[in-house]
This record gives sequence, C-alpha cells and structure tokens, in this order.
Amino acid sequence: TTRWGLIGASTIAREHMIGAIREAGGEIAAVMSTNPERGRAFAAGNGIPRATTSLDDLLGADIDAVYISTTNELHLPQTLAAARAGKHVLAEKPLAMTVADAQTMVEACRAAGVVMATNHHLRNAGAHRAMRQAIADGLIGRPLAARVFHAVYLPEHLQGWRLHDPNAGGGVTVDIAVHDCDTLRFVLADDPVEVAAMVQASGMASGGLEDMVMTTVRFASGLLAQTHDAFTVRYAGTGFEVHGTEGSLIARDVMTQRPIGSVLLRTRDGERALPFEHESLYARAVRAFHAAIRGEGQPSATGLDGVKSLAFGLAALEAARTGRTVKIG
Ligand code: NDP
Repeated sequence: TTRWGLIGASTIAREHMIGAIREAGGEIAAVMSTNPERGRAFAAGNGIPRATTSLDDLLGADIDAVYISTTNELHLPQTLAAARAGKHVLAEKPLAMTVADAQTMVEACRAAGVVMATNHHLRNAGAHRAMRQAIADGLIGRPLAARVFHAVYLPEHLQGWRLHDPNAGGGVTVDIAVHDCDTLRFVLADDPVEVAAMVQASGMASGGLEDMVMTTVRFASGLLAQTHDAFTVRYAGTGFEVHGTEGSLIARDVMTQRPIGSVLLRTRDGERALPFEHESLYARAVRAFHAAIRGEGQPSATGLDGVKSLAFGLAALEAARTGRTVKIG
C-alpha cells in the first residue's frame, strides 16, 4: 500500500482525492493544515489518523507520497521540501506561479528520484481517451480544428482566493484553461505553439483577475483550437470537439470532474456514439501514480505536462495583456 500525506486541508482533497486515493488502494496517514483546529476537524471528518501544522513533521512521518492541494503559490516550496525528503509528489495544477518555478519542481523531483505528477484529471476520462484513440486510428482523417467549451459557474463555496487573490494564483486562465491545454495535448497528441487571447472581468473577480477567457491556439501540426473558460456562466454546459478532414468528434458534458458525458463520431457514413468506460477520473490517476512508484509506466499527467499547461496559461494571459499573439515554450 502506498501511504499518503495530504498537504493542504482543501476542498478538492475532501470532495475527490481522499476517496480516489482509497479507491486506488492507497492509505492516508496524515494531513497538514496551517490551521490546527481546521486540520483536526478535517482529519476527524475524513478518517485520517493524524493532523499536523508542520510540513517537516508531515514529511518526517511514515509516508511514501504527498498530495499537494494548497493554493498555487505554495506548490513550489512544498514540492521542493517533499522531494528533499524523498517523497513522491502528486501536485495540483497550476503547478506554480511561473514556468521557471514549475521547471524547478520537475527538476528537483527528477534529481531526488521521486515520481512527480500533475493532477490533470481530464486525461483519465473515458471520453477523452476514446477521442484520442479515434484520432490515432484515423477515424476523422487529419485533425484541422478543435473547440473546447469549459465555461462554468464557480460554486459559491469556492468563491474565495480564485476570484480575489492574485498572490495565490487566482484567475480562470490558470485555474481552468490549463486543463483545456492539457486535454487538447492529450487528445490530439500535439503541442500548442502560439496563442492569442482576450479576457473578461465581469465583476465576479477582483484584484485585476479575469473571470472569463477565450483563446485561439495554433498547434505544431497547424491545427487551430478555440477555448472558452469562465467562472460566471451558469447554463452553457461543457463540450469538446475535434474536426478533421474525414470526420468530426463531438463530445458533450466532458469537461467535468465526474465520469459522465458522450462522444459522437460524425462522418460520411453517418453518426455513431463512441463507447467508453465511465470510471472515476481521479482514482484512475492515482492508480497510474501508484504504478509509476512501482516502476510501472508514467503517471497520467507528468510534472512536465504540468509545466506545459502552465506555459500555455501564462502565455494566454500575456497575449490578453499585450493584445499580441504569444509564442509558447
Ligand atoms: P481550497 O480553498 O479548498 O483549499 C486551499 C487552501 O485553503 C487549503 O490548503 C487550506 O489551507 C485553505 N482552506 C481550505 N478551506 C478553508 C476554510 N474553510 N477556511 C480557510 N482556509 C481554508 O482550494 P481547492 O480545493 O479548491 O483548490 C486547491 C488546489 O487544488 C488549487 O491548486 C486548485 O487549482 C487545485 N484544484 C484542482 C482541481 C482538479 O480537478 N485538478 C479541482 C479543484 C482544485 P491549509 O493548507 O492551511 O489547510
């Protein structure tokens, strides 16, 4: 069994990752929170034997791996400390505040010989895996364009630092659009090379942060993609489309944390739904992480994948700020 320490008594840990780690056969040994009462309550409420306020204390415990789900400015120092302590690291996205910092995290884990993964859950979705396979099998010919619909409404209980704290890495671009980039890279087996973007601050976000972003992205193959992310849109629903020379993949309700949604393949032969499994995205990611610790393959999304999605997100923000197209990487 892989023994885990949680860094951060967070909502995502409580709502998704604790269950996912246990479903994947892992054990949660301890949680670290900066607030002793909240940490104790979190441990008690989630069946975790131990809470601490000290990172050194957590890293000194009998654990193999850490899951880091604090606010974004803390992922760098906490990852470096975990790597120094020889613990495998599953870090939340965005990995860091700058691309250089994210690269430092990847390098530190590599040097320490520990596995590093980024929690880009959407690669684990049956829908996205089915689309990747369909494209690799040539079912839509040469992919020419992709469209990602990921404008959602930020639930009230999450309307905090994401909307108001630039120092914690708020804003919808690094929060949600980074997932679009990772999913596009995975489904298309392609890399973004340049991005143009505009952002909106409709009044929900403050402190110079954006609550909506639209991007146009050119990939290495020449494919063009559009992305639309928001915290402010209640009723749009989500989707992901790839249009090729011989067919289109049209997926609905697939930019989500839940194993739901559908994928339609439309070609000259008509339409058919692609079959796929509806399995927990997060549990699948943890299973791959456990396997990587055993030396069996790579995590679903590596540290480097997290560097690349962050590079996209920060380039999009620069594009929006300057009104220019920005090269990525
Ligand atoms: P939260 O705001 O729930 O938690 C972040 C930090 O805030 C925690 O580390 C905790 O600090 C503190 N905190 C939590 N609850 C409270 C509270 N009630 N009062 C005061 N402080 C509190 O963030 P999320 O869980 O939404 O996000 C955490 C990270 O996970 C981010 O990096 C985010 O981008 C990522 N994320 C990823 C998702 C994915 O699907 N991959 C989905 C959602 C988030 P302390 O450390 O002291 O306990």
